[in-house]
Order: sequence, then C-alpha cells, then structure tokens
Amino acid sequence: MLNASRALDTVSRQGGDEFTILLLDVSSFEVVASFANRILAEIAVPFSLEGYRYDLCASIGISLFPDDSENVESLYRHAGAAMHQAKLEGRNRFRFFSSDIDSSIRHRHFLEQQMRSALEDGIFEVFYQPKVDSKSASIVGMEALVRWRDANGCLISPMDFIPLAEETGLIIPIGKFVLQKACHDTQELIKEGRQLVVSVNISTVQFLHESFLQMVNNTLLESGLRPEFLELEITEGVLAKDISHTQHILSSLRERGIRIAIDDFGTGYSNLAYLKRFPIDVLKIDKSFVHEMLFNKSDIAIIEAIINLAQALDLELVAEGVETQEQANSLRSLNCQILQGYLFSRPLPFIEFRDLLWETTTSIEAPGKHSRYWRG
Ligand code: C2E
Ligand code: CA
Ligand code: CA
Repeated sequence: MLNASRALDTVSRQGGDEFTILLLDVSSFEVVASFANRILAEIAVPFSLEGYRYDLCASIGISLFPDDSENVESLYRHAGAAMHQAKLEGRNRFRFFSSDIDSSIRHRHFLEQQMRSALEDGIFEVFYQPKVDSKSASIVGMEALVRWRDANGCLISPMDFIPLAEETGLIIPIGKFVLQKACHDTQELIKEGRQLVVSVNISTVQFLHESFLQMVNNTLLESGLRPEFLELEITEGVLAKDISHTQHILSSLRERGIRIAIDDFGTGYSNLAYLKRFPIDVLKIDKSFVHEMLFNKSDIAIIEAIINLAQALDLELVAEGVETQEQANSLRSLNCQILQGYLFSRPLPFIEFRDLLWETTTSIEAPGKHSRYWRG
C-alpha cells in the first residue's frame, strides 16, 4: 500500500485487516479510481512467507470530502458501507459510496431493529398451507410459513426479511419460534383426531447452528409431538456445505423418526449423488417448474425426470405452487402424489386452517364445492 501511495497521502491501520488511506488534493473520481486499482493490483501480487505462498485480495470503499459528508465520522462510516458493498459484490474491487448504498444500509438497519422488537413482542405469526393428496384430494399435511405484520397490519413477505435474518443470526430465534408454534399447533390437531404431518422450513444457518439438534429435540419434548409428525424442509445448498456434519445431523434426525424434505428441488446443487448419501424422504418440485409446465417443454421434461428419480429412489413427491386445475390434472396423471398451491388454499392462520380441515373432512369428492379449499 505504501508503494502505491504518494508522500502526501496518509496510510493507517484501523485494526485487524482494515486500513484507511487519506488522499489529499484529488482532482477527479478517475484519479481515486485508478489509485484504488493500483492498490488492488499491488495487494494481489503473491508473496512468500516461511516457504508458503500467499495470495491476498482486498475490498475498498471510498467516500469523498465534501461531496459525501463534511464530517469525519460519517465519511469514515460511508467508506465502510461502500467497502461492505464491494465485499458483497465479490471482493477484489472498489466501490464509491453512494446515497443508494446509504439508504439500503439504513433500511437494513431499520429492518433488523424492527425484527428484534417483533421477536421480543411476540409479533411473528405462523400460517399453514395444506398439502393435498392428488388422487383423493384430502389434506395430508401442511407447511408452516412464518408471517410478520408491520405496524399498519400489512404482511411483510418472508423473502424480504429471511435473508437479513440469516445474515444477522436472528433466524435462530425466529426459526425456533416457528418450530415451537408448528409443533404445538400440530399436537392440538392430533388431539382433535387429525393426524397430519407438519413441514417446517429450516434455513442453512439454522441447520448448521451448534444447538440445532438439541433445539429440535427440546421442542418435540415440550410440545409432546411425536417425531414422525415432523418434517424438516432443507434446500440443496445445505447438502453441499459441511458434508460430514450434515450427514451427522441428518442421520440423527432420521434416527429420531423425523422426516427430511428437499425444498425447491431442481434449482440448486446439481450433484445428485447426495440423494444416495443422505437419508432423505421427500422431494419438493420447485414452483418455478410447475408454473411453466403447461407451456414449456423443458419444464415438463424436468418434472418428469424428477418424478422418475423419486420413484426409482422410493422418495415421496410434492409439487408446490399448483395454481390451476390443469396443472393439478397433469401432475396427477404423471403420478405426483402430493400437491400444494393456491388452487387448494393460500397459507392460512391456524384457526382458519383448522376450520378448513373440518370443512373438507365431510365431503371431498367434488372439487369446486368448497370455494375456500379449491380457490385459485
Ligand atoms: P418456500 O419454502 O418455497 O415456500 C413456498 C412459498 O410459495 C410460500 O411463500 C408460499 O406462500 C408460496 N406459495 C404457495 N403456493 C403458491 C402458489 O400456488 N403460487 C405461488 N406463486 N406461490 C405459492 P412465502 O410464505 O412468502 O415464503 C417464501 C419463502 O420464505 C419460503 O419459500 C421459504 O424459503 C421462506 N420461509 C417462509 N417461512 C419460513 C420459515 O419459517 N423459516 C425459514 N427459514 N424460511 C421460511
Ligand atoms: Ca418450503
Ligand atoms: Ca419451495
């Protein structure tokens, strides 16, 4: 870094692997950009230490006085935000601070604070979406989906807060809450005579957390739910992480009698060998394939391939995102056993889900009679 700097620049170490360079008298953005490129090139030169070769890379964030701020602290903060952005974009690059970065960081910070308070105040909810037998049309299970209502009563999509919850670690208490609620509600239904399996989404961060198995065991004990009524949905990404650890967790779950489903199957990890290696019970065909299946030859081919694979490996199959009767008919004729989607019902609060269960127990032969059950 010193090599790339001029005599009038100041290089200092902030701590750890963080450095600050103060450039004086810069005439244009281009000058700063080419300086940043020189630093990156300098750092990328491999070097040897005690016989070992080291290849380093850096991420650089840049803020400008007085354009971005006139205040030292916020200039420093802005440079940090731009550096974070450079890291997110793949490292070994530089980024200028922009008000977009600032507002996105502010928004994330705000959301994180809101999530923490929502957890403390018990504001998260769990909705349930039925899974339906494609032949008999009876409800055979349900998926638990977390819901968060903002101060105005509007639901915030999990897609908007789960990724941040994963980054901040908040997914651990949120996921625990969802599992507890799902086990508790399912046990209620069982006591009322409805034997349904509940599927709970488990994010990779949660799955790899050191106390995950303990948490699952405690939750089952506290709720009284038998393990065979619990299914955990993980994504293919989990299976590509720490293989021996994953194997240990999955085998322990299987020994307990808990079922494992691979969610969004077909969209992630392409090495199918894992299906042999890990104890898996269910494949969930991703809704993107179902969505296009009637118009797109590749999607129907992928669905057929997944169905053949599941049959050969003796795995249960669920197609998600079923929105039309035509999709349901086609999946049924392809021998897909279980369907899930807006055609049957949107995810519902527990009370409404329970009503739906009772409504559909009496007669289920005639789809269309039950407006709520068979709505699109
Ligand atoms: P997912 O696990 O693939 O869940 C299915 C998503 O598809 C749900 O969205 C569901 O409401 C939606 N869906 C159901 N039927 C249909 C349909 O017919 N058409 C369409 N277009 N969509 C349908 P939701 O509830 O917004 O959840 C989005 C994602 O957020 C979930 O995708 C899952 O990855 C994550 N998520 C939700 N709840 C939890 C949770 O408790 N824990 C974790 N870790 N992730 C969760
Ligand atoms: Ca899922
Ligand atoms: Ca899915």
